[in-house]
Amino acid sequence: MKRIQRFMVGRHGADQLSAFLLIMSILAMWIGRMTGVSLFMLIGYLLMGIGFYRIFSKDMMSRRRENSEFLRRSIPVKNKLKHWVESIGGNTKQAHSHRYYVCTKCHKQLRVPQNKGKKVIKVVCPACRNQMKK
Ligand SMILES: [Zn+2]
Repeated sequence: MKRIQRFMVGRHGADQLSAFLLIMSILAMWIGRMTGVSLFMLIGYLLMGIGFYRIFSKDMMSRRRENSEFLRRSIPVKNKLKHWVESIGGNTKQAHSHRYYVCTKCHKQLRVPQNKGKKVIKVVCPACRNQMKK
């Protein structure tokens, strides 16, 4: 473990985007194996390559920017997915009561109780006290 720790010093490490890429790569390879379409295998290897490249990258600023951009884009999708699960009769209580945002300052993901009625709500980031109007 010590050697791995030393190796990872100054490197970006795993984040949500890398985890997503690796999951997608496994999925693509699995589809490739099931269907026999080699294009999926190629995509799988490509995604895995990008995922590991990001984890071991030393350009932390760029990687952090990519990840926050990924989170910013994925959160509306996540909210939509929740609404979809809810519409087909999934666990509606949890889905209805919270929304997800990304702090504009420190890019932390925030889970905010959904406010019914009021259109604009004030969100305060617990990590950096940044106030946002959503
Ligand atoms: Zn914050």
